[in-house]
Amino acid sequence: MKSIVILGSTGSIGTNTLDIVTKFPEQFRIAGLTAGSNDRKLEEQLRIFKPDTVALTDPAAAERLRERCRDLPVEILSGIEGQSQVAARPGVELVISAIVGGAGLVPTLAAIRAGKHVALANKEPMVMAGKLMQEEARRRQVNILPVDSEHNAIFQSMVGHRREDVRRLILTASGGPLWDMPLDKMRYVKPEQALRHPNWKMGPKITIDSATLMNKGLEVVEARWLFDVPPEQIEVLVHRESIIHSLVEYSDGSVIAQLGLPDMRTPISYAMNYPARMPLDPPPLDLARIGKLTFHRPDHDRFPCLGLGYESLRVGGTMPATRNAANEIAVAAYLSESIGFLDIANIVRTTMDAHQPVDVSSLDVALEADRWAREKAAALVRALSR
Ligand code: NAD
Ligand code: MG
Repeated sequence: MKSIVILGSTGSIGTNTLDIVTKFPEQFRIAGLTAGSNDRKLEEQLRIFKPDTVALTDPAAAERLRERCRDLPVEILSGIEGQSQVAARPGVELVISAIVGGAGLVPTLAAIRAGKHVALANKEPMVMAGKLMQEEARRRQVNILPVDSEHNAIFQSMVGHRREDVRRLILTASGGPLWDMPLDKMRYVKPEQALRHPNWKMGPKITIDSATLMNKGLEVVEARWLFDVPPEQIEVLVHRESIIHSLVEYSDGSVIAQLGLPDMRTPISYAMNYPARMPLDPPPLDLARIGKLTFHRPDHDRFPCLGLGYESLRVGGTMPATRNAANEIAVAAYLSESIGFLDIANIVRTTMDAHQPVDVSSLDVALEADRWAREKAAALVRALSR
């Protein structure tokens, strides 16, 4: 039985992971769960899965949970330190990293430093400090197994092949809910419309990132560090149906891809139980019924956030962390209707232009770039919402 911790257990990836654990109770034991501030949902989960330890980043939410769970033998921690303690718990084999945003960097790195294998959904830490995370993982001899569907597909398409034979990684993108919308209409898109993703049901932040294509911009950086492939060899292909989850092209012209219906439980379970596959029993992929699969080049004019992803990688150092932090602030401001949809890209661009990148030589350097960019982006949001 594998002892696991889920960071961000109350979110979309977190609850999908618990769904798998419920189906295969003899294979996994939940040792720890964490969330940001959702004490109600965490309480439900801890009464079912009975972890030894849980953590909430918000101290007031942790206090509420302690009040209500006096009857249970569970340790309730708080703050980012609490998240890291749960991540580094002795006896835990695998940590599912599923917090949203840069908040996951410190606990995910704590898991790696404590010698845990990591199933990584939380892509933002890889964007902020990918080189550092990979160096730590090598030093501790732990695997970082990608959960993000595209990276999981690439990982699967590389099993049994030689890294030096790879010519291109091709990340597919659904195009998101606004793919067909003209630019003059995009200006006025309300969050409720941008949150209506055609193929995937996910948390709000990544859904807005899918609408701007910032998500794909983050994924290019994620792929660069996960697979040690330079940005010139990473391409993005818009594929509206989300059936081909990504492809790898080899030097002899062979292209290997992974296909499946869009269901995050497939990549999550593969990362949880690699190399064995779990009998999830999804409906069969009926390609004859689907009939045709379509492909388009990305439109950089309407979706500048994808290009900002490549640009941040080319500049390197703390630039990707800066871009990520500015995006987190801009997306939150858009979701609270303080700024418009097109302001997201402008805020990220302006923050990047003002940044003096340095090498990400330590965790502190990444965190400082993150802090700086959040402040800068927040000032830009204030100026726009005045
Ligand atoms: P979500 O918003 O549904 O859930 C986020 C989780 O993180 C919640 O448990 C929340 O309590 C927790 N959290 C938020 N702020 C926190 C903080 N400061 N400290 C500790 N915990 C905090 O998000 P999601 O859609 O599940 O996405 C999680 C991550 O996985 C993101 O990085 C996303 O890009 C990535 N991802 C998600 C999907 C998907 O299908 N949802 C697919 C691919 C990748
Ligand atoms: Mg993805």
